[in-house]
Amino acid sequence: MLHLILTLAVQLTIPGCADDVCLDRDSEHVLWLHNRSIEMRTAVVNFAPRCAGEDVLPGLLPAPAGARVRVGSIRVGCETVSLHHNRGAPIDQVQQSTYQLPIARGYRYTITQASGKRTSHARWEANATDFAAQIGTPIVAARTGTVIEVRDTSTTRCRRPTRQCFDQANILVIQHDDGSVAYYVHLAPNSSRVSRGDVVRAGTVIASVGNTGYTTGPHLHFDVVALGPRLQRVSLPVDFAEEH
Ligand SMILES: [Zn+2]
Repeated sequence: MLHLILTLAVQLTIPGCADDVCLDRDSEHVLWLHNRSIEMRTAVVNFAPRCAGEDVLPGLLPAPAGARVRVGSIRVGCETVSLHHNRGAPIDQVQQSTYQLPIARGYRYTITQASGKRTSHARWEANATDFAAQIGTPIVAARTGTVIEVRDTSTTRCRRPTRQCFDQANILVIQHDDGSVAYYVHLAPNSSRVSRGDVVRAGTVIASVGNTGYTTGPHLHFDVVALGPRLQRVSLPVDFAEEH
């Protein structure tokens, strides 16, 4: 599964935005970032040379769901800035937390890949954990958060590590209060018990183990991520409260 970084060149000639995440400015040439989506996103705003006012802070700009965040002033005559944004919070803003096991209590599983072990996981998912279990095993939320994406209509399993194959995985994505994001991947078709926008508590059944997308057998791929300085996805180490 690959993440997208949206890259937009925004002409600031009219106030108002068409996208979920966008920039506009008020009459005093103060630039604002609007996040009208249901998830925290983090942005980088790049100005043309000499266009940024002195009150513009460099670096990453986190924008909670629904927030309008002041970017700073833009000098008169400067019409073009670029906006990049991605899902999640900057890595230095996320908090240590313990996680419940995402396999429901009483069901059998085997951890086949985890951080610190030899792994087929790519660098951007280096700390992901794979829980092998029978198809249909209930998956629970490992940490309380908001469901920000559900995709469970795929019935396809594939064996080539291509973008097309990764995209065949059914997934459920939960964003935690600190903006970090948990990915639950390879779910069984039509197994989701929750919808986009739902707040779910740790331990709530959310879906079932499946074998969709790029897999070598039925398992849950679980990964928690935040964003690095270039808005790249960074896999976080996860402490599970107990094994069962
Ligand atoms: Zn995996």
